[in-house]
Amino acid sequence: MTREVVWDRGVALPGHRLWLDPLVVRSFAFISHAHTDHARRHKEALLTPQTLALIPEARRPRGWRMLGFGEILRRGEGSVSLYPAGHMLGSAQLHFQHDGWSVLYTGDIKLRQPGRIETFVPRADVLILESTYGRPHFRFSDPDETVEVIARWCRRALDSRVTPVLLCHALGKTEEVMLALAQYGFRFALEKRCELMEVVERSGAEQVYTVHGYTEDFARSLRRKGVRAWALEANEQLALAL
Ligand SMILES: [Zn+2]
Repeated sequence: MTREVVWDRGVALPGHRLWLDPLVVRSFAFISHAHTDHARRHKEALLTPQTLALIPEARRPRGWRMLGFGEILRRGEGSVSLYPAGHMLGSAQLHFQHDGWSVLYTGDIKLRQPGRIETFVPRADVLILESTYGRPHFRFSDPDETVEVIARWCRRALDSRVTPVLLCHALGKTEEVMLALAQYGFRFALEKRCELMEVVERSGAEQVYTVHGYTEDFARSLRRKGVRAWALEANEQLALAL
């Protein structure tokens, strides 16, 4: 049965030996994004390069097949392509096509991005939708308005000489909220898990160049920790003496 979709601790297209975000280790499985509830040590995982880079070492698949957005992977007589899901860096929807029939698996998906950017949803005969907020009382307001409300709240707290504390998912949401609030001129202090700092530590790099956002602030805090770091301004040309 090539048109069969089953659930067994994860969604599967058994006719094509393809698992979608399974909860247990499988031989070939799609990992939609790097949050740890989705990452398992599969024998071979299908994922975006960004997702692979963000999965912690202990949860990395043993082998992988990286697929970028817009690329096509042949799977038997079918084909797989990935589309951005807007949930976090590297997050992907999987679109599977075979013999005039198509399935779309969304993983965690976010349709509306700040700045009124919409996530593209490809058409499909069968839709498998991650339903984390699948109850009618979850109604999300406009992202730009939400950012505005958060910014006003932070400003009120600061005006009252109180430090506002925002609780965000350490991977993905923290960066998204910081990016959205940066336009209001706030400065951020992060808990160790959120951070850029860990990327620096893991890379083992002796020299670090920071680009976009709080380049000088971050470079300065790295230098305080003994890392040779410099901020690059957007109009500077980059010539690295390696
Ligand atoms: Zn997630």
